[in-house]
Amino acid sequence: MLRLSVPHLDDAAIDACNRVLRSGMLVHGSEGQAFERELQDWLRVPHALVVSSGTAALHMALMALEIGPGDAVLIPDFSFPATGNAVLMTGATPVLIDVEPGTYCLDVARVAERLATWDLEQRPRAILPVHEFGHPVGMKALMNMAREHGLAIVEDAACAIGADCDGQAAGTVGDVGCFSLHPRKTLTTGEGGIVVTRSDSLATKLRRLRNHGMERLPEGMVFMEAGLNYRLTDFQSAMGRTQLPHLSGWIQARKALARAYRSALSGLETQGHLQCPEDHAGHSWQTFMVVLDEQHDRPTVLRALAERGIEANLGAQAMSLQPSFKHAPGADRTPHAQRLFRQGLALPFCEAYDVAVIEQVVGALSTILNSGVSRV
Ligand SMILES: *Cc1c(COP(=O)(O)O)cnc(C)c1O
Repeated sequence: MLRLSVPHLDDAAIDACNRVLRSGMLVHGSEGQAFERELQDWLRVPHALVVSSGTAALHMALMALEIGPGDAVLIPDFSFPATGNAVLMTGATPVLIDVEPGTYCLDVARVAERLATWDLEQRPRAILPVHEFGHPVGMKALMNMAREHGLAIVEDAACAIGADCDGQAAGTVGDVGCFSLHPRKTLTTGEGGIVVTRSDSLATKLRRLRNHGMERLPEGMVFMEAGLNYRLTDFQSAMGRTQLPHLSGWIQARKALARAYRSALSGLETQGHLQCPEDHAGHSWQTFMVVLDEQHDRPTVLRALAERGIEANLGAQAMSLQPSFKHAPGADRTPHAQRLFRQGLALPFCEAYDVAVIEQVVGALSTILNSGVSRV
């Protein structure tokens, strides 16, 4: 079976992990601190904290900004639902905003419209854009809007490490940025995440929240406020450290692969069978998702690909169509997100694949879509 993606774990990653396991120092060791310093250099941001997951990063970011009951956070409807769950877990209200049909990212014009016609009792406190699949969100316009309305920006860059927003790393533009190190992401430590900020005071709060609300003062451990245990283990940090030097190269390979996909799929696109994702110079290409035309039934296409030994999947969810978000404000005004959720098709994609893989996938897809089996 050609897998949707395979994590990049070489002997160096496995050896580094084993070294920490043999040392007996599994947490609070030097690997985590070294990984954080290296991430700060790589992302060019003064504070990077490694945490237990991308979801933990999002949750902590909102808690550090003191967002809670009575507050509203504007989020794109198309994402992995952890984005919205993090908002719900603080007691705040997620307000769903539609996305652009070609970039799959928050439609900034819809954010402006929602803010200009605000009719909810909850107070808008933050915008939480998602750099979906690595496509950078237009942060300039969003930052201006946030400033104008006094809102914070938390970037969900969970799948976008290495994406570039006008010369700044995605995730480092807003008040707090969140990354995931899950195996489906380009850099992985199994589970894991990173939370970044330029603010010293937010960094202090985030460090406390990660570690039980604790600070080490001259008199010893003092518990300053309610906190969590969202730490990453040292053997995970050791794995991450072996991968980071390869990340830029992997992203370059992914950019080339995305170009090859787009060109191989141009015939199917012209014939109206599907739509390719929009390219962007700063795209880090975590996932390559096409959108099937409504004439095709996606479950049939997925099954037919599997019969040919090709694993494909849906790309991401429309939160508005999940039970936990169906009453969220805005759930009735996100047609693009809902179509992407119904018709999105994520194709096999990772730096280990080459043009031969793409030809195999596009050949199979072409046969299926032209055969009529998937016609609704
Ligand atoms: C993967 C992902 C998350 C969740 O990250 P975990 O590390 O799995 O908790 C959140 N948001 C987006 C956009 C993601 O792609």
